[in-house]
Order: sequence, then C-alpha cells, then structure tokens
Amino acid sequence: MNLNRFERRRTHEVRIGSVIIGGGRPIAVQSMTNTDTKDTEASVAQIERIDRAGGKIVRLTAQGEREGENLQQIVRRLREDGFDTAIVADIHFRPEIAAIAAKYVDKVRINPGNYRAAHGEFEALIEQCRQRGVALRIGVNHGSLSKRIFDRYGDTPEGMVVSAMEFLRVCRDRNFDQVVVSMKSSNTRVMVAAYRLLVEAMDREAMHYPIHLGVTEAGNGLEGRIKSAVGIGALLADGIGDTIRVSLTEAPENEIPVAQLLVDHFSDRTGEFAVVHPERYSPTRYRRRSRIAVPVVHDEPMEGFRILEAVSKNPTAELRAAILNMESTDPVLIKRRYEDRSLEAAAVKAAADLGPLLLDGLADGIWIDAPAFDDAQRREIELMILQAARVRFTHTEYIACPSCGRTLYDIERTLAEIKSRTSHLRNLRIGVMGCIVNGPGEMADADYGYVGAAPGRITLYKESEIVARNIPQEEALDRLIDLIRANGDWREA
Ligand code: SF4
Repeated sequence: MNLNRFERRRTHEVRIGSVIIGGGRPIAVQSMTNTDTKDTEASVAQIERIDRAGGKIVRLTAQGEREGENLQQIVRRLREDGFDTAIVADIHFRPEIAAIAAKYVDKVRINPGNYRAAHGEFEALIEQCRQRGVALRIGVNHGSLSKRIFDRYGDTPEGMVVSAMEFLRVCRDRNFDQVVVSMKSSNTRVMVAAYRLLVEAMDREAMHYPIHLGVTEAGNGLEGRIKSAVGIGALLADGIGDTIRVSLTEAPENEIPVAQLLVDHFSDRTGEFAVVHPERYSPTRYRRRSRIAVPVVHDEPMEGFRILEAVSKNPTAELRAAILNMESTDPVLIKRRYEDRSLEAAAVKAAADLGPLLLDGLADGIWIDAPAFDDAQRREIELMILQAARVRFTHTEYIACPSCGRTLYDIERTLAEIKSRTSHLRNLRIGVMGCIVNGPGEMADADYGYVGAAPGRITLYKESEIVARNIPQEEALDRLIDLIRANGDWREA
C-alpha cells in the first residue's frame, strides 16, 4: 500500500482583494449574505458582522442590473467603514450581469451551467477580470448543469467535472490563473466524489487552481453542521481545499465559527498513513467493504465487530490505513475519544474524522467516546453522522438552502415550522428552498419540495414535479402535509 505523509494538495496563489488563498496559505473561511443586494445598509451591516466573526470573504447574489450596480455602493461603504473584506458577486442565469459586477468586486463566481464555453462571453469576462485584478470562481453545482452536459452525463459527479474542466481549460489557454473552482452538492457522497474526480482531472493536466469546498443546502442546527463537516472533512482529510464555506440556514455569521473549527481541527495533521484511495472516488463504483446490512451505533448489538480506535492526530487516515490493512472483511466499528465540553465542537470534529470512513464504505459502525455528554446526546450525534454519510437514515432530512438576496420568505422561521411538523418521518427528504430560480435544481434529491415562487407565494413539489403552484404561504405547510399523506409517506408522531 502507498503510504504518504499527510500533506495539502499543492495549488497556486489567487488574490481575492485583500485575501490570498492557495499556495499553502491557511484555509480561508467565507460566507454569503442573505440580504437584498439592493439594500446597501442591510448588506453592509451583515458583511461587517461576518467580517467581525472572522469571515474575510463574503459573497452577495447579483441577479440583475440593479443588484450588480449596487455592489459599487456596498463596496464603497465598507471601505469607508474601514473593512477590507473581499467581496464576491454570485452570478446565476444572466452571464451579462458578471460584466457589471466585475467593475466593483474582488471576485466573480459564475455557474458554467449558464454559459456556453467558447462563445465569447466567458472569454470577455476573463479579459475584464485580468484588467481589474478580479478573481473568478468556476462554481459547479449538482442540479444545475447545462442541458448539453446533462444530456450526455446525467446529473453526475463526472458531468460536474467535465463542466468545470471545459472552463478551466479556457482560463489556462488564455493564461489566466486567478481562478478558484468548486463542485458543490447537498448530497455528501456526490460532493466528495465530484471534488476527488476533479482533482484527478486537474492533476492529469497539471492544473493547480485552488479549491473552494462546501456542501449546499445542509440545513440548520447540529444536523447542518454535521452534514457540512462530513463532506468538507472528507476532503480536508485528503489534503484538498483552500477555502471553505459551511452553508447553514441561519444568520450567515453563525457559519464562521463552525468553518473555523473545521480549519483548526485539520491544521495539525501528522503521521504516515495512507491518504489516497482512488478506487472509491466515484459513487458509481461505490461499494461497502463488508456485507453488514445497516451500520450501527455503539450501544446496539455488535457481535462479530472489530473495534478500531483512532488515537493519533490524524484519525481519518489512521483508521483508513488500519481498515485497508485488515485481511478479513469483518465489520468494523470506528471509535474516537473527544474531550470537548461543547456538544457542537465534539459533533463537528467526530463528523469530520469518522464520517468520511462511513461515506467511503469502509466502516460499519461508529462509537463517539465523549464523556461530557450523556448516552442520548452521543447516540443522536452518531445517528446524524450515519445519515450525513448516507449509510443509515433515521430521521427526516432537510435540504434547506442557506438563503441569499433572492430568498422570497423567512426561511429560518419556515424551516423551524416545517421541522416541528415533519421531523418524526423517516426516510424522507424535504427540500426547503428560498427561490424558484435555483431551488428546484439544487434540491434534486428531495422527495418533497417547498419552494418560494413569489413574495408570499409557495410552489410545492413531489420530487421534480410541481403539484401546487403559487399557493399562499399561510396554506403551504398544511398543503405539504396533505401531499405527504396522499402519497402514503405520513405517519403520526
Ligand atoms: S435556492 Fe435561491 S434563495 Fe436559496 S440560496 Fe439558492 S439562489 Fe438563494
């Protein structure tokens, strides 16, 4: 087996205003506003809160000319207030808005699903960015691939990689290297596979663009934090990632301490353990190592299990090496001790350390040894990690967008209401999305969807089909529950 010292993947530096990422620099944490980008006061106040929390890169949605133009006022006000926060414009569906935003911001994020490579628009944007010293992010999202890519590859990690590589090659051919790339999904297995495949593809072409990591629509609370930690942790443990965002359906400044906790947790990884496992990079090749039907938590019957406890500073790689070195395919229960007194800290660290092994099909059970918490708390975290790693589903999964300037209703309050009525349902995925523009694509895995259609109006989905269009929001939760009942997925609490 190939044993490598843990090291971060080599990337080149990219300047985003006052922040430089890549080239071995500390991993930068970032967030996104959920204010109206036309509202200068609210946007500036929120960016300043994110900056004070430690997020030095902040993204704002720029869906139209007015939002794009107002970025000028927002940046001016921030600088007058003494903030040098790097500002990023998020462009979707209207590539022409990127040209407006690039006059004012430090980075422009585009979704290649909205562009046609080699048709001039993207090339013109590169030249504009080069002249002003603006960075670009090629931000591919599962669920919003172009029709051309989708028809050929489906909504797959492979399709996501093909989409990103087309645009990265255009940047390389035009000798523009101030480019960051991301491959987000709300499905941790798709997300991790897409990033790993992207790294393989970039390595084949000697590309060293920095990588931005994130799990989209992770939800809120402990569940949202754990889901992000499993996906982001799997890649940080591989040495992949130069900047991260933990997307939560909460105030954006809440994302920063969680992201920083993850960065700090991975800042000191040592030891000679295998960190490469290409045979598991694609979910189409995904298979579990042992034949056990359902992965267990530590207090369930586990006769015949081998218990492997990680004791080093690099638990993921230590356990991976131990499992891959086992000659038998006996089921494995992975264990790690956490001395933290904060439940959130213990949960995020455990999800980042142990989740990736479950995600990769290597382990069959989990044991979090955290003496500061009682059995019920530990069990809840363990079950959430199994679900985030997509190996055992015990509660409703919410694919909830973090909200942004496009959001059409109070998503935090609505998500709490939907959770209070539906969280007892098992094996269901409910999408709760702020807008109809991106929402339906990005909740591609959901069984039911609750999507903002217009102010005060909601459209309900059963999988990808619209079943009630533009209904008043006051009726929407009851109608969602009626829909779940009508499809036989309801059970009383
Ligand atoms: S789904 Fe819509 S509202 Fe939610 S984050 Fe995405 S663009 Fe914003």
